[in-house]
Amino acid sequence: MNAPYDAVVVGAGFAGITAARDLVDRGRSAVVLEAGPRIGGRTYARPFAGREDLRVELGGSWVNPDLQPGIRREIQRYGIALTEDMPPGAAAFLTDGTLRSFPVPAAELADLERAVGHLRDASKRIAPSQRISTQPIRDLDISVDEFIAPLDLGPATRDLLYATVGWYTGADPREVSMLGFIAQTAGFGHSPYGFYGALTERFVGGVGTLLDRMVDESRLEIRLAHHVVRIEQGEDGVTVRTGDGRSVQARSCVVAAPTNVLRHIDFNPALAADKQKLLAVNHQGRAYKPSMVVRNTPPRPFALGVGTLQAICLGYELADGSSVLMGFGGESAARIDPTNREQVEAAVREYYPDAEVLAVDAHDWNADPLFDGTYRVDRPGQAYDFLRAMNEPEDRVVFAGTDVDDSVWRTWIEGAVNSGHRAVDVVSVILGR
Ligand SMILES: Cc1cc2nc3c(=O)[nH]c(=O)nc-3n(C[C@H](O)[C@H](O)[C@H](O)COP(=O)(O)OP(=O)(O)OC[C@H]3O[C@@H](n4cnc5c(N)ncnc54)[C@H](O)[C@@H]3O)c2cc1C
Repeated sequence: MNAPYDAVVVGAGFAGITAARDLVDRGRSAVVLEAGPRIGGRTYARPFAGREDLRVELGGSWVNPDLQPGIRREIQRYGIALTEDMPPGAAAFLTDGTLRSFPVPAAELADLERAVGHLRDASKRIAPSQRISTQPIRDLDISVDEFIAPLDLGPATRDLLYATVGWYTGADPREVSMLGFIAQTAGFGHSPYGFYGALTERFVGGVGTLLDRMVDESRLEIRLAHHVVRIEQGEDGVTVRTGDGRSVQARSCVVAAPTNVLRHIDFNPALAADKQKLLAVNHQGRAYKPSMVVRNTPPRPFALGVGTLQAICLGYELADGSSVLMGFGGESAARIDPTNREQVEAAVREYYPDAEVLAVDAHDWNADPLFDGTYRVDRPGQAYDFLRAMNEPEDRVVFAGTDVDDSVWRTWIEGAVNSGHRAVDVVSVILGR
C-alpha cells in the first residue's frame, strides 16, 4: 500500500484534533474524518434556542489550567482567554428528604468529616502524574455503597455523596465504579472539596475558540460528514471506509470516537477479545444538562442533592435580574426531557420553590447516535480493566478520546487532550518501525 497519509484520525473532538495537530507538529501528514457536520464533539457552543441573544455551552465547558497541564499548555500556546465563574451566593442542598442551606444536620457533622477523610485517604493512593491502570488500585474499582460501607454514615451524608457522584457521572451513583471519582479527587490535589469549586473557568467566546485555533494554525485537513463504518488493516497500512463508500488509506489510524459507538465500526481483523467484550455494552454515563434562563431564585444559586437534578450551577447573570443556569441530571437516576420547560421548572423548584424557568435548551447526547451517552462511567469492577484493554494498540490502530484516557482527568476535556498526545506517542513508534 502506498498510503497518502501517515495517519487517519477518526473523530474531530478534542482528542482527535489534538492528535492530528501533534502529528503535524511532528512533521507527519494526517487527515481527520468526522461523522457529524461540525468539529468539537461533546463540546458544543451555539446560540440559546429561542434566545438568540444568548450563547450556550451544551457539552463540556469548565476547565482549570492550574490543575490541568494539557489545557494550560494549549491556552498558553494559542493565547486563549478564560473567564472565571462568580462564586455561589445561595446554596441549597436536598439531603435525607430535607431542603437545607448546609448539606447535613449538625448531628451528622462527624459523619461528613469521616466521609471527606475517607475519600481523601483513598485519593492519596493515586499518583496524579502516573497512568491509572499501572497503579495498584484495582481494589478501588468498587461501588459507592461498598466504598462507604465501613463508615456507617447518616442518611444526609450518604445522600450528599450520592448527589456528588451522580452529578459527576450522570448516572445512578449506586451503579458506577468509584475508581474514576477517587482518581478525580486526586486530580483536585487530593481534595474532595475540589468537586464544589475546582472547575470554575470557561473559554471566553466558547470552548470552540481553542479548537478553531488548533485547526487553523496547523491547517488541519478535516473532512466532515465522513461516517466511518469499517477499518481494515493490512501489513503496511490501514484503509478506513465510510458508510457512503468513500475510503482513506494511511500508515496508521487513531480512533478518537466515543467508546459507546465503537461496536458499530467493523474492525478487520477483529479487535482483541477483551476489547470486544468491554465495548459490547454501553457504559453508565447518561447525563443531561439543561441550560435555562431562570428568574426568582436567590442571587448566584448553587444546588446539590438527590433531587431530579443532582446539581444546578450558575452560568451567568443577565441585566434584567434573571440568570442562565445549568442543571445536571442522569437518566438512570431520574429521567426528564431537558428541553421541556415545565419539567425542568419542576426540577428546579425542588431546590428553589419560587423559581420561574423562562426558557430551556439542551442537546440530547444519549439519543444522538454519534455519542450514545455522555462521559464514560464504568460499572463497578470494569473501570480498571477497560483502561488496560483500550490503551493497547491493535497493530496500526490506536485508541484515543477522553473515554479511554488513562489519567485522573478521564471524562474531561483535559482527558481528551491527554489521550490525543498519548496516541501520537504510540503512533510515532508504529510509524518508526
Ligand atoms: C453535557 C456534558 C457536559 C460536560 N462538561 C464538561 C466540563 O464542564 N468540562 C470538561 O472538561 N469536560 C466536560 N464534559 C466532557 C467533555 O466534553 C469531553 O470529555 C470531551 O469533549 C470529549 O472529547 P473526545 O475528543 O474524547 O470525544 P468527542 O468530543 O465525543 O469526539 C468524538 C467525535 O467522534 C465523532 N464520531 C462518532 N462516531 C464516528 C464515526 N463512526 N466516524 C467518524 N466520526 C465519529 C463524533 O461525532 C465526535 O465529534 C462534558 C460532556 C458533556 C456531554
